[in-house]
Amino acid sequence: VIVPPKLLSFLKKEKKFLIATHISPEADAIGSSLALSMALDFLGKITVLYDKHPVPKVCHFLPAHEKFTNIIPHSITSDFALILLDCNTLKRAGIEGRSFKYSAVIDHHETKEDFGDIKWVVPEAAATGMMIFYLIKELEIAITRDMAINLYAAIAIDTGTFRYGNTTAETLKTAAELIEAGASPACISHNLYETWSKERFDLLVMALNTYEMIDDVVITFVTREMFLKTGTAPEDTENFPAFPRIMQNVNTSVFFRELDDNYWKVSLRSKGDFNVAVIASHFNGGGHKNAAGYEVRSDLESAKKSLLKGLITCQQHERE
Ligand code: 5GP
Ligand code: MN
Repeated sequence: VIVPPKLLSFLKKEKKFLIATHISPEADAIGSSLALSMALDFLGKITVLYDKHPVPKVCHFLPAHEKFTNIIPHSITSDFALILLDCNTLKRAGIEGRSFKYSAVIDHHETKEDFGDIKWVVPEAAATGMMIFYLIKELEIAITRDMAINLYAAIAIDTGTFRYGNTTAETLKTAAELIEAGASPACISHNLYETWSKERFDLLVMALNTYEMIDDVVITFVTREMFLKTGTAPEDTENFPAFPRIMQNVNTSVFFRELDDNYWKVSLRSKGDFNVAVIASHFNGGGHKNAAGYEVRSDLESAKKSLLKGLITCQQHERE
């Protein structure tokens, strides 16, 4: 992976950066942003870390996560440059309509977009965390323990902790270096996967009980009523769509979560070569081959129907 020289000179030249990542952030968004801001701190830069949504509880073990703000401070003036991480549009970061002196995009999603004066988009990279690792090396900054924990968590979450198709020798070599720099795989896995509240577990049980199988597609959902009943929030559904995919004959898992009246967030997960990013972008969303998403304004039944129609069309295209 080659870091664009233009990006390196931009980082060296500018003094103040707003680092923003996508709404509903997970460990790759948060961890890669934190590691990048730590590296820029080393270069004597001023960084502000922004996410429209709060850092999810599951990421509260990440060093320096409290540096994230959900309000763009007044101190952000036109002399701040923007770095968008793990996403490639202002809309996805929830900051549409704002303008910046200069902008750089660092991302690994395959859905192409126009935004950014500098675009460094590497769909082959397993995580944005991998790209930040290369970037920090290229800047000749030593990886600290805090950076290592953030980057390891970022890479772990996006590779299903080194199980998905994006896991390569490169991913594992990087993980090994991060362990040498102080990241503990057991501790990070424990924090990511074994710290659920009972409420969250109750919600998963409810979600799994909604399952419906249509050929090789499984649909599950969570309503606002279920959130209320269990005392949980949308962030608690992270990883829910991965569960139905564990069945041998399931190729695609579709998970709907209700954010507002007739407003649903849809998560898609697939196995092997079936590309759900294509379907998600058909609904104005995006993502990766095996993990993608979009939002839809309609009732659940119509949303399911149009999704299934989209899936069937895509499957037919794949067969042709
Ligand atoms: P999740 O289903 O966990 O929310 O997201 C799965 C993948 O698809 C992530 O890489 C995420 O960034 C991407 N993704 C999810 N929802 C959207 C969306 O509405 N728009 C775009 N562009 N990407 C999305
Ligand atoms: Mn990512």
